[in-house]
Amino acid sequence: MSANETTTDTRELQRRDSAHYMHPFTDTKALSAQGARIVVRGEGVHIWDSEGNQIIDGMSGLWCVNMGYGRHELIQAATKQLRELPFYNSFFNTSVVPAIELAGLLAEVTPPGFEHFFFTNSGSEGNDTILRMVRRYWDIEGKPKKKTIIGRKNGYHGSTVAGASLGGMSYMHEQGDLPIPGIAHIEQPYAFTLGRGKAPEDFGREAAGWLEAKILELGAENVAAFIGEPVQGAGGVIIPPPGYWQEIERICRKYDILLISDEVICGFGRLGRWFGCEYFGFKPDLMTFAKGVTSGYQPLGGVAVGERVASALIGRGSDFNHGFTYSGHPVACAVAVANIRLMQREGIVERVAEDTGPYLRKRFLELGDHPLVAEPQTCGMTAGLVLVRSKSHNEYAPFDAEDGVGMVCRRHCFEGGIIMRAVGDRMIIAPPLVMSHAEIDLMCGRIRGALDRTADELRRLGKL
Ligand code: PMP
Repeated sequence: MSANETTTDTRELQRRDSAHYMHPFTDTKALSAQGARIVVRGEGVHIWDSEGNQIIDGMSGLWCVNMGYGRHELIQAATKQLRELPFYNSFFNTSVVPAIELAGLLAEVTPPGFEHFFFTNSGSEGNDTILRMVRRYWDIEGKPKKKTIIGRKNGYHGSTVAGASLGGMSYMHEQGDLPIPGIAHIEQPYAFTLGRGKAPEDFGREAAGWLEAKILELGAENVAAFIGEPVQGAGGVIIPPPGYWQEIERICRKYDILLISDEVICGFGRLGRWFGCEYFGFKPDLMTFAKGVTSGYQPLGGVAVGERVASALIGRGSDFNHGFTYSGHPVACAVAVANIRLMQREGIVERVAEDTGPYLRKRFLELGDHPLVAEPQTCGMTAGLVLVRSKSHNEYAPFDAEDGVGMVCRRHCFEGGIIMRAVGDRMIIAPPLVMSHAEIDLMCGRIRGALDRTADELRRLGKL
């Protein structure tokens, strides 16, 4: 068979995959030895692989297919726009209708004070844009020394040079000499390890206090902004303690530091509000968005620019020398418009807040009676639990990191027809927002089955 001929044969696809395709965040040699699972179709909350296995997508693709697979409204919006105008740019005093419409719609669904939107292709590019925008802002304000942006350890803000630097993933910093200068990190508000034995409110105040300490160490006159995800996603669904974000906001205001909410995961309904900052009750100056804006049907990201920064950049600035060929791509924007309208029509954000989010909480927390499970938690349509060797009351014995227990559990999930992600020994989900009660039941049943099989395997290996 010629290498160019289309095939549906799994082995042949795997062979070609390993011959030519370098996957993101992947040990290509190890994957080649094993062969990739090839996903060929999606419908509702399910995907199918090339072997015909039907799997519940507990991760919404990569936290993005919020409205589920196979939505005709989105497919039609894309094809209509492809026919009409597949591409034109927004440089050189031109504009395109879908980008105009999308910016207007975003002004409607974002919190008050957000009237301007800059488009990128991804969340990473959104955060790169923010880094340049923030520094430009302080230049215009006549405070060019205010350059440093503070992020958090185990935060994730993307994989480009600025995105990976703002993030606090040490395994990313190890490659490519990151972080770049002008970026600092504080500890994450992870109660499971750092807040043991403390009242949640006290831990919230303490964890926010790490920001104040860092600002004082660097000198407020050198600090431009603080960036954080309302709930850390890729870090393992780390839900901050009560009061944390209010205190972070107070500290940012006190020292005149811009507050950036990275809404790439939490935005567009994931927590049962349009944006995660609304769920936690704080007002950022800038928000990064991507993923759920199109439900993943087209690559699109961007920056919601709040009044303070917009009035400087637009009112007192000149050109902002930044942008991408595909900023405001008409097809991506047309799909985003259709997606937001679909979300509004179906009242999906309210449904997550009032119905499916609480139901997921009820069912997911029941997993807490499993001997391997510690501290299951949910927030809207996202959830996480910790795998532990043993537990009594609130004392947990962790597994050794080398045991790779999260990966064992992830394999059993996959084989049992549910995609869960492992972050160390944290097992996490972020299912499509359209998931029904029956599908939540099915998902939680499969998770329990996978936990049982994980325990069996660990016992066989003498690790339990
Ligand atoms: N910010 C956050 C909070 C994310 O979760 C991600 C992706 N998982 C990004 C930024 C980067 O987005 P992208 O992969 O689209 O560049």
